[in-house]
Amino acid sequence: MFKKPNFHEYVMTRLISLVVGIFLLTTILFLLFIEQSEHTITYIILIAISFSLFTFAISKGAKKMQQELSTINNYLENLESLSKIDSRLNFFTSEFHEINQNLTRILLESKKREDIKQKYNAKLKLKNLQKSDMISAISHEFRNPISSIMGYAQTLEEESDLSSKMQSKFLHKIHNNGKKIDELLSRLVLWNQFENNETKLHIEKFNLNESIKLIITTLQDKYINRDIIFNEPQIIIAIADKTLMEIVIKNLIENALKYSKDEIVITLTLEELIVKDKGIGIATEDIEKVTKKFYRTNTNTWDNSMGLGLAIVKKILTMHKTTLIIVSEKDKGSSFSFKLPKL
Ligand code: ADP
Repeated sequence: MFKKPNFHEYVMTRLISLVVGIFLLTTILFLLFIEQSEHTITYIILIAISFSLFTFAISKGAKKMQQELSTINNYLENLESLSKIDSRLNFFTSEFHEINQNLTRILLESKKREDIKQKYNAKLKLKNLQKSDMISAISHEFRNPISSIMGYAQTLEEESDLSSKMQSKFLHKIHNNGKKIDELLSRLVLWNQFENNETKLHIEKFNLNESIKLIITTLQDKYINRDIIFNEPQIIIAIADKTLMEIVIKNLIENALKYSKDEIVITLTLEELIVKDKGIGIATEDIEKVTKKFYRTNTNTWDNSMGLGLAIVKKILTMHKTTLIIVSEKDKGSSFSFKLPKL
């Protein structure tokens, strides 16, 4: 098979044929037209030496150029490993030097782009992982009320001789479970709005004592026989987003009821709102985690708990430029408080 010549071979073949041709021509011309003398041989030898020196110099240059070409070629072959390129390497021609500089720049840029791509892929992977965690948390929470509704509905359908008292009890259960699903959906929608930065504050002045009392009345219907003490030394007119603030307060009070059995105490002062319970408390190492989305310490229980409540609370308070303060001790109880927003 015909092997392509390398740069040096190519230049040398051309050059040697040219030099030999010119040498022969010069010698013939010399012998034919120039008067013969005892120095003729010396002249011809001198011409031969000059041609040889010329060929040697060109060969050296071609060899050097070939080396530079193969260095550049090596770079191109190992494009992905930047370590193979030495930007300080000295090339003997300015063009090759510039090519080397440009290659280094291109490689640095492509490495930067590769790093960005890798970071983006890692982020995407994490997002997907979080999404699948989220979907399993959501489906877990929806499955319970849905299967309750299906169970009660099936019994109502199959047991025709069920007393009317039992029938209305079952219907009430179905209604309650429907309400739970509705609440779960509202939380999800709200969370989604936060995630997409779609929530805007609608600041207004409102009577905070009235809002808290209304929330207590609603929760008292659900948590019958529970003592909710409300300390309200004075009327507080809040300047905040009423709907969002009420979500915060409802979450904190309902959590206090959910995670304790004794009375809970709500204190509203000019400075802050505190919700205290004497319940299960939170271990010191978990306090940081409870405001993370989908975090729940007890994953076996269910009561509208998707682990989103405190994450939503934290987000709303941050939007109001205030922070949630959690003080808690395992098996002793917790206190959730925040300074009233001063918007
Ligand atoms: P959940 O919907 O599970 O209540 P939250 O975000 O409101 O979600 O709370 C996250 C976790 O924080 C809960 O699963 C619970 O373990 C813990 N937690 C919240 N409030 C209290 C409280 N008052 N006492 C003890 N633990 C609490």
